Amino acid sequence: MRQFSYTIRRAADVSACISRFRAVAPKAYSSLLITVFTTSVNQAQILHLTGRLGDAFPDAAIAGCMTTDAIRHGGINVNAAVVSFAVFETSKVKIVTFDNPETLAEDGKKFCARANRIKNLAAVGIFGTLHALDIQPFLDHLAALDDRVVIFGGGANTVKNVPACVFTKDEIMEEGLLAVTYAGPDLHVHASLNFGWKPLGREFTITKMTGAHVVEEIDHQPAAKIYEQYLDIRPGKTFARDTLAFPLFVRRGSSYIARHTIGCGPHGSLLFIADLYEGETIRLAYGDPREMIEDAKAGYADMAEFRPEALSILSCYAHRMFLHGDVKFELEPARGIAPSQGFYSYGEIFRFAGRVGIHNMMLLTVGFREGKKPLTPLPVRGEMPTRLKDSLLLVERLVRFVSATTAELETANEELNRLARTDRLTQISNRGETEAILKEAVARAEKNDPPISVLMLDIDNFKKINDIYGHDVGDHVLTETSKILRAYVRHGDTVGRWGGEEFLLILPNANETQAAQVADRIRKAVAALQILPDSRTFTASFGVARIASGESFAAFYQRVDGALYEAKHSGKNCVCVANAPQHKK
Ligand code: GH3
Ligand code: MG
Ligand code: MG
Repeated sequence: MRQFSYTIRRAADVSACISRFRAVAPKAYSSLLITVFTTSVNQAQILHLTGRLGDAFPDAAIAGCMTTDAIRHGGINVNAAVVSFAVFETSKVKIVTFDNPETLAEDGKKFCARANRIKNLAAVGIFGTLHALDIQPFLDHLAALDDRVVIFGGGANTVKNVPACVFTKDEIMEEGLLAVTYAGPDLHVHASLNFGWKPLGREFTITKMTGAHVVEEIDHQPAAKIYEQYLDIRPGKTFARDTLAFPLFVRRGSSYIARHTIGCGPHGSLLFIADLYEGETIRLAYGDPREMIEDAKAGYADMAEFRPEALSILSCYAHRMFLHGDVKFELEPARGIAPSQGFYSYGEIFRFAGRVGIHNMMLLTVGFREGKKPLTPLPVRGEMPTRLKDSLLLVERLVRFVSATTAELETANEELNRLARTDRLTQISNRGETEAILKEAVARAEKNDPPISVLMLDIDNFKKINDIYGHDVGDHVLTETSKILRAYVRHGDTVGRWGGEEFLLILPNANETQAAQVADRIRKAVAALQILPDSRTFTASFGVARIASGESFAAFYQRVDGALYEAKHSGKNCVCVANAPQHKK
């Protein structure tokens, strides 16, 4: 295949573009796809352009959309339309449009069923009016397409306050979507995704949603508050633009995706065009300019490996807004790979984690090739600017600073959390932590399957140890005893200090017999310890109980404490097992 692109700035450029393409167009081809990405918002002008192209190439499929900036030959075309001719030798390209919001889900299902019957379907490209129409019900069905089918797309976009349209040669839609199917026995399509945004600051949780696109509350506060509190961005006319460089980072599984708000709703809610869910963990994010450019370069290196004959670049408008003039470094490497065309989009469409969805803030590059890939490797030339613009340099350093500070705070926070749960003297779980785990275990103990047993021990005559040898020796006895406790339990068991010289162990997957065996081993080990200054030994007493199903915390505690009491009264240095609770009839 081959791809030829032309920039149209004035009426005369249309004829020039047509004749220039005619001069280079191959005589025979299997299909011709003309794409038009235009910054014009004049619908009549656009229809005139597609009409001229349609008349000149009646057999061509024509698809396009409005954009803030068009992309051609690895560079930005401001205030222009980019017209591209993709000439396929053996592949077939077809365009279908949908504009009825009521039937989108049904349309998606039918489209998918039809697409599944297309022989050698390699890719589906979608252009939609994403702010005017929720196309997710349509996209949901595309997940059923074979995994090897590349699904990509983007939303029409304009900076002017008019509806952003998508169009074909026959119609222009303020609310609609068009799907392009690419199929061929020798057609290969490869997509590469770049991100470059970094999560900053702490994690938040989405605590209230209305539908999938309105976030009502974050951490139980009106959602917009996080922008006010951390970035001093308040609801207002420029809210969407002001927050563009600070998307929300959403944790999905082990990776993050970004969501950019399109504005504020009532009661401080945030509106989105892409889906979010209650309970999802989010963070604020900011672009790291150098990483963004490095990421793009890595993506092109991956694309160079694929050896495409034509490239489509769909970049989020946020990249353009954020990188300003330096955005050229993000696009330039494409030049060395293949002829490229594309546009700055409003929402990027691709398959992620088994689902076809709308994403934000991405740079999406799609490579097409018919036939085998050439054996010679292609170097990626893209230069990394040695010096970013001063404003970006400052941003870069601040992002580093915030990231480093965040990492330090996270570590400090984890340590604080650990300390809050740990007993200072013995470094095992403290009373609060042990009690919380025990309460959880009591609540979890259903049908005794698997059983959970608890072991409570108290050092015998400990007061005497303190009195005879002093408090420091008493402390040493406590730390050495806790070492034995840790050494004699399994991974997943809990070892806690319950009080002065009292300890409590929680043993999941152990019945009372097994727990009593553990207790007796510990009892012997404690009795064998020779750590007192005069080599005398000391002992401990043990109470063991299995948590009964449906038993209350208070009732259980009484049983295990009772067993320990019994051990003390049976002469100490022994293990007593509590009876099962008496069921009242
Ligand atoms: P019994 O055999 O019946 O358990 O008698 P006991 O002496 O072990 O029990 P008692 O409850 O009379 O005494 C416990 C002593 O443990 C009292 C208290 O001063 C001491 N103690 C509590 N916490 C600590 C501590 O952290 N370090 C030291 N050295 N002693 C402690
Ligand atoms: Mg004691
Ligand atoms: Mg005691």
